[in-house]
Amino acid sequence: MQYISTRGAAPKLSFEEAMLTGLARDGGLYVPEVWPHLYREAIADLAGLSYEEAALRVIRPFVGDAFGEDELRAIIGRAYAGFGHVARTPLAQVGPNEWLLELHHGPTLAFKDVAMQLIGQLIQASLRRSGRRLTIVGATSGDTGSAAIEAFRGLDAVDVFILYPEGRVSEVQRRQMTTPPEANVRAIAIEGDFDDAQARVKDMFNDHAFRDAVGLAGVNSINWARVLAQAVYYFTAAVALGAPHRPVSFAVPTGNFGDVFAGWVAKRMGLPIERLVIATNQNDILHRTLADGRHEKAGVLPSISPSMDIQVSSNFERLLFELYDREGPAVAALMDELRDRGGFTLSQGALDRLRADFDSARASEEETAAAIAGVHEAAGMVICPHTAVGMHAACVRRGDPKTPMVVLATAHAAKFPDAVETACGVRPALPPALADLMERPERVIRAPNDLAALQAIVAREIGLEAAR
Ligand SMILES: *Cc1c(COP(=O)(O)O)cnc(C)c1O
Repeated sequence: MQYISTRGAAPKLSFEEAMLTGLARDGGLYVPEVWPHLYREAIADLAGLSYEEAALRVIRPFVGDAFGEDELRAIIGRAYAGFGHVARTPLAQVGPNEWLLELHHGPTLAFKDVAMQLIGQLIQASLRRSGRRLTIVGATSGDTGSAAIEAFRGLDAVDVFILYPEGRVSEVQRRQMTTPPEANVRAIAIEGDFDDAQARVKDMFNDHAFRDAVGLAGVNSINWARVLAQAVYYFTAAVALGAPHRPVSFAVPTGNFGDVFAGWVAKRMGLPIERLVIATNQNDILHRTLADGRHEKAGVLPSISPSMDIQVSSNFERLLFELYDREGPAVAALMDELRDRGGFTLSQGALDRLRADFDSARASEEETAAAIAGVHEAAGMVICPHTAVGMHAACVRRGDPKTPMVVLATAHAAKFPDAVETACGVRPALPPALADLMERPERVIRAPNDLAALQAIVAREIGLEAAR
């Protein structure tokens, strides 16, 4: 399987190269050259398999010959061994034909672990083979960073730098990034918001001399291997609820558009998904795009679902590529317009296609809090604010009640205890493995929102000063 850039002007890469590269050299994102198809029988055969075995069957066609079947099986096995639930991503019923897909049983209590633990094992296996060394740089709105640090801590061929917006992540999120003691993982607090952090990471990738000098690799949600890992749980959940014999709908708390795009990938591969609901908080660029075709940035409004507080959804570019018949230059022109003029308008054809595959809903802060309280009252369950945005969207875009509606539970409530307690009166406790998190010593590097300063920090930390 070969991978091509959404902007059409970067070389084709293998799965392994696309995973290690992250952002393409023309500024685009890598996507498979063709979409593999899983036939109805192959989907039906996923019933009753372990999560790991189902993952192997979904992922295999995308990996090509990068890893042999037994090697891939072992990698997947190591990735999910540390999850706190035997089903890895279990379903829980919250209402009549309404389900939560619990994606928060990994080591950092958010769904990012599902992809990051796998990518950590894939990269380790790949580097062990080639003897190469890599520097991983990523931006986080909170959950990606800790998931990356957790996935790579202690691996000797990898240095990790995670940029987070100072003061804009929860205390639990921050401590999960700043307390791991291993010297190869570092948290950098930058002045600015998540979009600033993400933009600086993109700048580092676009500085090709720097990129080559430090052996830069990205594991942000633009990394294809992460999107792919997330397609798996759409299959396992849908099959558990009757697919491929009946369709299933999903409501997905959305920020960077990686998770919900993974749902689109599952659908594109043949999984019968009826509704795919993009759930946004008050940072609602995607909801507005579906409403009138105008994709326009607005300032970031901090919310109680901070992992979704972004104004540009990076992975939306992958969908644009499909909406525009895989025409790289058309995508490049739209992305230039977004950068230079703050927005673009979809063609009518592209908007029709977008609406054919997706629904959307926006939850205000009040609606988010009401959804936390509502689920607690009705089902006795305590959900996180991101999941609550998904619950709200599932309610207002429910569709046929005969079709199961699955809300992706993207984080454990204990990552956001203040917002949850305010909404429903219950203060969720951290699971035992993280009980002493608040007492562990922190280690953080502070930096301005400035490319040169950040590059100097990375070079210094990996001992490259002389080379620059
Ligand atoms: C990252 C994150 C999201 C948003 O997912 P995207 O793939 O960026 O759309 C939602 N909820 C939580 C808890 C997250 O950490």
